[in-house]
Amino acid sequence: MKIAVLAGDGIGPEIMEQALAVLDALALPGVELAHGDVGGTGYRKHGHPLPPETLAIAKAADAVLFGAVGDPSCDALERHLRPEQAILGLRQALTLFANLRPATLFPGLEDLSGLRPEIAREIDLLIVRELNGDVYFGEKGIRTLEDGRRQGFDFMSYDENEVRRIAHVGFKAAQGRGKRLCSVDKANVLETSQLWRDVVIETAKEYPDVELTHMYVDNAAMQLVKAPGQFDVVVTGNLFGDILSDQASMCVGSIGLLASASLGETQTQYGTKGLYEPIHGSAPDIAGQGKANPMAMVLSLAMMLRHSFGREAEAARVEAAVAKTLADGIKGGDLGGSAGTAEIGAAIVERL
Ligand code: NAD
Repeated sequence: MKIAVLAGDGIGPEIMEQALAVLDALALPGVELAHGDVGGTGYRKHGHPLPPETLAIAKAADAVLFGAVGDPSCDALERHLRPEQAILGLRQALTLFANLRPATLFPGLEDLSGLRPEIAREIDLLIVRELNGDVYFGEKGIRTLEDGRRQGFDFMSYDENEVRRIAHVGFKAAQGRGKRLCSVDKANVLETSQLWRDVVIETAKEYPDVELTHMYVDNAAMQLVKAPGQFDVVVTGNLFGDILSDQASMCVGSIGLLASASLGETQTQYGTKGLYEPIHGSAPDIAGQGKANPMAMVLSLAMMLRHSFGREAEAARVEAAVAKTLADGIKGGDLGGSAGTAEIGAAIVERL
């Protein structure tokens, strides 16, 4: 099980250390770690945020565990040398097209949600967002019309293969959870969405055990705050997924708890190759102070075990250990507690 470990900048190395301690505690046979510099660290040591040697490590691995990148001292660099470009470069090089973001409310943290506790308590969903297509990648520009008015345009499109491959990810994820998939689109107005819906319905024939529903994106935004408990897995395009996944994240509270996976089509002998990272950044304001909450990084590790290594039992154990740590009142500053990075990491390992 070859894992590329790219800790990155700021709190990245601090939270990665705790995630690796958790991995170590699982004592899985055959784990091989390869460390690489990335982000501002990559730039300072090798002159590029995604140095060729780091890219080679990522390509050779079965999965990439990614901390965070971002370094204020790099703000003045040209865009292609900025730390954040490393993520885009990795997504592209590894052809990662599916972004998975779970949003689960851990018992005892209801007060951190912006929703009423009895509604927040129900949240346990996964958003599967397409990453490589849609309006973000179509023809775009600002042109001047004949009468001199400026007009901005961004071309929205999805071809059926793009929809089919993300639909498969959604259906498979649903099979591993509550067996319910909600496809979110805007088929009442957009032709792109009509094709999306048709292809998702066609794909559903291969997954008779999954219950498929459809929802317009405007309604989905409402339902996410009104009755989020109705969702199990949501599959949607790049634009809608961008917005809904952030909305869902904030329904559960702190940024220090939210993990993500980006998956491609490459199958390894264990599962799907992917990149796993917390959704938060490098938090330069608290870097080096031992204050960062490592839970999102640890939960990213759990996602890696599940999706890239087929280790569902271990993934569930890690998630349960995090939940137990929280239930026992061991919380970082981001959750209103006072526990430090190492203390939280040790508490998770102890409960494991
Ligand atoms: P951020 O997520 O780094 O921090 C936002 C706030 O949340 C800060 O107050 C920070 O202290 C806090 N926070 C974040 N993670 C935490 C954790 N694990 N424990 C406790 N508190 C935590 O976002 P930002 O400040 O907007 O960005 C900082 C840098 O990170 C920028 O350079 C940005 O470009 C980069 N960034 C990188 C990623 C990534 O690597 N995927 C994502 C977002 C931002």
